[in-house]
Amino acid sequence: MSTLAIHNTLTRRKEPFVPLVPGRAGVYVCGPTVYDYIHVGNARTFSVFDLVVRWLRATGLEVTYVRNVTDVDDKIMDRARARGEPIEALTERTVAAFEEDCARLLLVKPDREPRATRYIGPMVELISVLESKGLAYRAANGDVYFSVRDFPGYGKLSRRNLDDLRAGERVAIEAAKHDPLDFVLWKAAKPGEPAWPSVFGDGRPGWHIECSAMSARELGATFDIHGGGWDLQFPHHENEIAQSEGASGQPFVRYWMHAAFLNMGEEKMSKSLGNVATAREVLASLDPVQGGEQLRLLLLRGHYRSEITYTRELLDDAGNALRGLYTALRETPPADGPVDWTSPWAARFRDAMNDDFDTPVAFAVLHELRAEVNRTRSPALAGLLKGLGATIGFLQQEPDAFLKGGVTVDVAALIAERQAAKRAKDYARADAIRQELDAAGIVLEDKPGGVTEWRKK
Ligand SMILES: [Zn+2]
Repeated sequence: MSTLAIHNTLTRRKEPFVPLVPGRAGVYVCGPTVYDYIHVGNARTFSVFDLVVRWLRATGLEVTYVRNVTDVDDKIMDRARARGEPIEALTERTVAAFEEDCARLLLVKPDREPRATRYIGPMVELISVLESKGLAYRAANGDVYFSVRDFPGYGKLSRRNLDDLRAGERVAIEAAKHDPLDFVLWKAAKPGEPAWPSVFGDGRPGWHIECSAMSARELGATFDIHGGGWDLQFPHHENEIAQSEGASGQPFVRYWMHAAFLNMGEEKMSKSLGNVATAREVLASLDPVQGGEQLRLLLLRGHYRSEITYTRELLDDAGNALRGLYTALRETPPADGPVDWTSPWAARFRDAMNDDFDTPVAFAVLHELRAEVNRTRSPALAGLLKGLGATIGFLQQEPDAFLKGGVTVDVAALIAERQAAKRAKDYARADAIRQELDAAGIVLEDKPGGVTEWRKK
């Protein structure tokens, strides 16, 4: 029987997963900065770590899953100013939209979702510890910086050395810093910006310090898994290591995991190319019942360390694959019961997932199992298909309802009844039917010649 191995970005190797405390796992994932809707690339990252957490739980571990919310940041202040909206109104609204997106993608709710503005105290304490250890200094402009040259391990995650980094530094050296690589821990208050009192004077925290302070509060100085998008390795995660290990003197994270990029067709998704798609607009274009799981499948069926591509065709293909799986479960109602891990399909599925979350192989096993269910009509195998799907957050909807999608009424029958009512001059009944269909998201279009067509709203 296989055991879980995880590719650790820190060592660039697959390592057996040995949790700090047997039977438990602490997981911290860098969450959203709440100034705008998440894009599909962010949705990939959050879906990947949802899959990781679900699989850790499926292997029997008791997981504490922490994902933070960055609710103080330059982007948030700029957006609030541009919209003429109070910062809190913007962040509350964006958090609510993020939660809706997560629910549609079938993401489990993290056990804790610390918000930066509620952890200012622990951040100030952490900066004070760094200052007392000679790793932080107060600059002439009132900001507090981390002194990178005083932390010997700097660069170990992203495998960069300080001299190369300095040589590549193109931005003008800010006069306040001792070294161009030093990064801000505490920003002195400026007029019109939110500020909190502290021993360093009024101000607000830098971005990096929040994850070090909140992960230590929620999971301890050392914890098992830290995840995030590929692009966070440098400088964000490098800086987290410097802060956390600098302060505690202990190893910070045992396994670093990073989810690769999502490309839009042939291109990188970027604001400058104007090809950024929010998860929300993709979901809005899909069936309200099927769309969330459909997008989730597109985001997860490639391996998390490989770049994946988003196109409409691939999204449609994911929808077809999912409908095929649900059709098998509708035709052969699954038997209830725990997964039989001695079955060859279950064993191969588990081996794939234990091999650094090899979802391409895991989904291939599910599709083979679907064919076998269709061939044998075995409720036990259908139960196995549903049970394996559950371990990674798929195939848990009621098959018939899923396959009918957002249309819950018999549109053709109601249109025929409405036409009969009109012929009988029962206009009240005809109107009532139109309203019933409207409530179900169906818009009627009466065409010349008494033909009625319909479409989804
Ligand atoms: Zn972070």
